[in-house]
Amino acid sequence: MGLLSGRCEAITPYEYGEQPKDGILIKLNTNENANPPSGRLFDKQTKEDYDALRLYPDPESTGIKRVLSELHGVGEKNIFVSNGSDEALALSFLAFFDADGKGAAVADITYSFYPVWAQLYDIPLKILPVKTDFTIDVCDYISADTQGSIICNPNAPTGIALTAKEVLSVADAHPGRILIVDEAYCDFGAESVASEVLNRDNLLVIRTLSKSCSLAGLRCGYAVGSTVLIDGLNRVKNSFNSYPLDRLSQKLAVLTLRDRQGIERSINALVKTRDATAASLRDLGFTVLPSKANFLFVSKKGITGFELLSKLRQKGILVRHFDKPRISDFIRVTIGTEQEMAEFIRAIGEIATQK
Ligand code: PMP
Repeated sequence: MGLLSGRCEAITPYEYGEQPKDGILIKLNTNENANPPSGRLFDKQTKEDYDALRLYPDPESTGIKRVLSELHGVGEKNIFVSNGSDEALALSFLAFFDADGKGAAVADITYSFYPVWAQLYDIPLKILPVKTDFTIDVCDYISADTQGSIICNPNAPTGIALTAKEVLSVADAHPGRILIVDEAYCDFGAESVASEVLNRDNLLVIRTLSKSCSLAGLRCGYAVGSTVLIDGLNRVKNSFNSYPLDRLSQKLAVLTLRDRQGIERSINALVKTRDATAASLRDLGFTVLPSKANFLFVSKKGITGFELLSKLRQKGILVRHFDKPRISDFIRVTIGTEQEMAEFIRAIGEIATQK
């Protein structure tokens, strides 16, 4: 017997995107927001905030729940706050799926953390291939005989979105099965189903402040769901870590969320840059999947994804490549500032014409 548990030895952990230390001029690899967070954060921490750090934070993150309940038109009891949305997702696998159950339906091309959590808790997965155009067919989820489904909308790394109607058709086909919708990138142009949880016990929507609120460094995510599901998440959370968000994060998250106008301005600017970048890439002969997220999934005939990644890196630009079946010819490009994207287009244009 070694020092590690069998479960720990067997797990293949999630590979997070590189956080470069040197040599990278433009970082477009981990879907952070190019715009700074709300100006309301600046200089808002007081001596009292620091003195209060001797005390544990509010385990319920009540202030955050209050703003979010107004934003989504649901009750505070319909909200669960987590340390990044990864935590809400991780706890959901434990709260809603059984090791000896019928498993969870997920797409073959989607957020690569889902299979890691499934493996960690021994939850069987039913992998449903996306169509050849990389769209999700919701009928596959309706006909799969599982304990529930996890759908990322818009999907990552493709950026392709389903309509709210399509998403809800999965929840409504089987009221006894959970549907988890990961809306990490939804604010960049897809339709949210968060307010629909009031009419459905089986719908859980997981969202984050990391992307549209430019707060990846703060670690605040949340789930919106029926009280049955939120109670389930609280049971697991309080068996794991009662205080997921520190005092400073709770205060700064509330200040940011209250700046709705600032968030919307930032989203609109980013969407404009995204659509202009997609058009420039298409002009250069690239295939660009239709994205409703803050990234583009891009390929070009005659160049592999790995070649694109390496050549961009030589030019000081970091993007993400997944060495996986069906998508190894693609790179995922986070939308940076207008200036960064102009430099990216110049660099990738040079690479394309050298081929
Ligand atoms: N869902 C998806 C699809 C993501 O890409 C990410 C970011 N890697 C997350 C959830 C988690 O984001 P966070 O923990 O920063 O909220």
